[in-house]
Amino acid sequence: MEHTIMNKKKDITALYDKQGSMFGMFISPDLWAAIHKEVEPIIDRYLEETQTPLPEPLDDWNRLLDFWDFAYEIDMDVTCELCGNTTEDWMADDPRKFRLKAANIGGLTCFECQSCRARVSKQHFKDKITSSCIPFCEKK
Ligand SMILES: [Zn+2]
Repeated sequence: MEHTIMNKKKDITALYDKQGSMFGMFISPDLWAAIHKEVEPIIDRYLEETQTPLPEPLDDWNRLLDFWDFAYEIDMDVTCELCGNTTEDWMADDPRKFRLKAANIGGLTCFECQSCRARVSKQHFKDKITSSCIPFCEKK
């Protein structure tokens, strides 16, 4: 069942299920082609602001700690070279300055800087840690 809300050409049509609940909007290819450049950033921004971030992979982190055999203590400090955001202990910050994005028992940990969204990676070697910082880039 369809219900036209905009105009006779049905460029935008709300779609309803049998119970009368709207389950989506249909936008014609012509209309979408005409407006998507302006509309997509608005949609992206909205989704970004409202989405709940993926949970941090703390199981992976804990597994890394279980297998920790590096020649130094577990390092909890993270620094973003791009915006200067820094913490002594990423886990202790509330709210987080950095969110854990990935960890593996090979010693690679990745964090997302919460102020500029850069990706901070720390690679743990036997006797040293190297760190790199990749700026956040929008899709496309
Ligand atoms: Zn940053």
